[in-house]
Amino acid sequence: MKIKSIESFIITDKLKESFYFSQWEYSERRICIVKITSDSGHVGWGEGYGPAEVIKAGIDYLKPFILGSNPLETETIWETMYRRTLDFARRGILVSALSAIDVALWDLKGKILEQPVYQLLGGKKRDTIIPYATGMYFSTSVNSQGEILSREAKEYADLGYKAMKMKVGLGIEEDVRNVRLVREAIGPDIKLMIDANHAYNLREAILLAKAVEPYDIYWFEEPISPEYYSQYAELRSKTTIPIAGGECEYLRFGFQTLLQSKSVDIVQPDICATGGLTEAKRIAVLASVHGVEVVPHTWGTGIAISAALHFVCNLDTVPGRLKTPQFFIEYDRTENGLRDSLTTSEMVIDNGEIQISDCPGLGFEFNEDALYKYAQPVL
Ligand code: MG
Repeated sequence: MKIKSIESFIITDKLKESFYFSQWEYSERRICIVKITSDSGHVGWGEGYGPAEVIKAGIDYLKPFILGSNPLETETIWETMYRRTLDFARRGILVSALSAIDVALWDLKGKILEQPVYQLLGGKKRDTIIPYATGMYFSTSVNSQGEILSREAKEYADLGYKAMKMKVGLGIEEDVRNVRLVREAIGPDIKLMIDANHAYNLREAILLAKAVEPYDIYWFEEPISPEYYSQYAELRSKTTIPIAGGECEYLRFGFQTLLQSKSVDIVQPDICATGGLTEAKRIAVLASVHGVEVVPHTWGTGIAISAALHFVCNLDTVPGRLKTPQFFIEYDRTENGLRDSLTTSEMVIDNGEIQISDCPGLGFEFNEDALYKYAQPVL
């Protein structure tokens, strides 16, 4: 069996209303999707996380090295792509291109073998996963965010979400007020995480962490620039809130640095950026060596969400115990027409938990009409 074609697409959806976080404003969603077809006629879908045009260029660069390969040999193909990028881009966007291809190959392998990807990863270790709602970005249409954020939080709570994540990074005083309002809106029983997208220096991050400790924060994500490993470690020693990070790390080698520096309590590899499912599984092994939890970062279409679901479904339970710990998946709820129309899934959310589909591959039906609707015209 051989890989017959690799096609990549840039798809764009203009948002009805822009939103922003601590770094920049979003006015559209733009994603690079890859379709891989085998000579048996099976199709697998992947996506890369990051600037879509650059990822597409990376996929075009990698394509000739893997066309004609056996699509079942995901590790062999991974190795070929890695060796072709290592000398030029040990981290970053070429790894995202590699990731998009790798995810598509796992989907394709599952379709060919008529098995769900979690089975091919080694098996299902849990039947349900808790989706945490990612939202509560900042609105461009108001100055005071707190009331809008707390209203949105209440909507997630009313929908049955057991956990949710809000943005911080506007300034400590405003962040604390917003966190307080959100906690008051959702009550004490829902897990609440905060994400600064590395808006703060160490001094500020310590101040914010101490100020929001009374609001029962489940984790503080990317408080500081991902470059400052030792500052993460120092922050950890100064707060009772668990520290999370890793969405800007690539490959097991990046995570080795993060883990060895004792920077985080929770690592957050993005499967569509950090090396695909092949590498994410290695990162999970590495995290288990350090006794650190894994909750993947996920931002994109149903392809990325499904890849994360199958990955989390297969994660080892560390530590093992009779009353099993909860496993989470990031579930972006911000406006994204691409996410909502590109894939349909058997995935069922019931009582705030996702039941995993046992359909082959990544478990979704892909809507190619939607793909062409959102694909940019070729100029
Ligand atoms: Mg984040």
